[in-house]
This record gives sequence, C-alpha cells and structure tokens, in this order.
Amino acid sequence: MKLVALGFLLSFIILTTACSSDDYKPVSVTPEVVKSKETISSEVTGTEISSNQVPLGNEKFAEEMDKVKRPLICIEAGHQEKANLNMEPTAPGSKAMKEKVRGGTQGVQTKKPEYQLNLEVASKLENALAEDFDVVMVRETNDVDISNSERAMICNDAQADVMIRLHADGNENSQVKGMTFFYPSIENKYTTSIAEKSKDILEAVAENTISETGAKSRGIIPRGDLTGFNWLKVPSILIEMGFMTNKEEDVLLSNPDYQEKIVTGIKKGLTAYYFQN
Ligand SMILES: [Zn+2]
Repeated sequence: MKLVALGFLLSFIILTTACSSDDYKPVSVTPEVVKSKETISSEVTGTEISSNQVPLGNEKFAEEMDKVKRPLICIEAGHQEKANLNMEPTAPGSKAMKEKVRGGTQGVQTKKPEYQLNLEVASKLENALAEDFDVVMVRETNDVDISNSERAMICNDAQADVMIRLHADGNENSQVKGMTFFYPSIENKYTTSIAEKSKDILEAVAENTISETGAKSRGIIPRGDLTGFNWLKVPSILIEMGFMTNKEEDVLLSNPDYQEKIVTGIKKGLTAYYFQN
C-alpha cells in the first residue's frame, strides 16, 4: 500500500510540476512500476536525479522530488535462532577474526531468547516507521544465517540512511538494568567516516527513547570493536534495550505496551533528526 500511495503522490507531483514547466516533458509513472525511491528517480528521468542535476527551469520539480524522498532505515534485529560460531574478518581487509553471529542473552524470567525479543521490537518498529520512512529489514524471521558483516552489507547495499541495530543486554549481576546506546567510534579507522553522523542520530533517538520508556540511561557510548559497525559505509546506532538478566526489566521488555514505547521513542528520535533539523 505504501508504494501505491507513493506512486499516486508522484503522479500528482509530475502533473502539477509539468504545468509550470515548458521545457520538461515527464514520462508518466504508474503506481505499478514504482518500486522504490531509486526507481522513481530513474523511471522519471532515465537517470538518477538530484537537485543539482535537474534541467534548468525545474527547480520546483527538484523541490517536489526532495519531498518525495524518504529516509531509508535499515533495521537489524540482533542475533538469530542458531548462533554461527564460524569465523569472519572483523573488518574489511583485517586479519583479526570473530564469530559470524554469537548467541544472545536470555530472559531470566520469561526464558525468551534475545533473538526473539529483538525481532518482536524490530517488527513493531518496521510498522511504526512505514508511514514516514522507507524500511529495509535485515531479517524477518529467526531461522536465518546472516553474519554480522553480511548484516552490515545488506544496509550498505540498500544505501540506507541509517542502520538501527536492536539488542538486549545480559549481566552476571541481576540488579543491573537500563538502556545503553552505542555508535561507531571515531577512533576506529574503519568507522571514522560514519561516526559523527551516527552519534548525532543516536543522541536524538536516545533522548526520545529514554523519555518515552522512563528507562534508566546507561549512556551514549562509542564502540570500536563491533564487526557489525566495521563493515558499514552508512551510519549506524545500536540500542541495548534493557537487561534480560534483570527480572523486572525482562518482563517489561516482553510487554507489548512497553515495546510500543521503545518503538515510539525511536521513531520520535528519527523524526526529530530527519524532519525537524
Ligand atoms: Zn545482543
């Protein structure tokens, strides 16, 4: 439905902008052929279009195209049903190796595995974002085998505006609870170029997620040791949503209302960053 609606919107824009322009004859675009913002661009013009490539006299068209572009959010639910402990390089060209996908934690009370919780929240986030954002899901089931580097490359290939990585935490101390927010370190040569933007996005997301959920924040922290960051060409944030080793927080994390609060917080943060900056 989203794509159909986008198609209608685009057709409308083409009709309205065509009226104000003599030297541009747009081809018609039907909803059936509209698949993504990239195909919209190429099918309208025969080439990628951006505001500085538009033929003279079509500034209004460029403005309207910019409004059609929606931020593309790549959502990764951390882990998977079966861990894959085979090794892969921790970064492009690196000799250091790390397991492809480690197993996650587990609910001390709910007994729920982390991979399942992560996907529950990821699916809710996908739905919540659908209205205003384009979304790519790294995985939509638990029964997958996608390594951390492959997860990053899915988001690279999609040319996502940001990759959101959802995890839950575990600790030997069952009293420990709260949300932790990670971004790629500027000190790490593999992630220097994406660090700053990731941090900006994360600050907006963390602020809103904490205020929606009322969870304790354990901070916004750079990480230079995560394979899933090292392979990225696009910004990324990782949210540890809470501790499944804390009874109270474990139960809370599986509460659908609380999951909606997490999702609302993330969406508000992304909206603040992409639409209100
Ligand atoms: Zn995890």
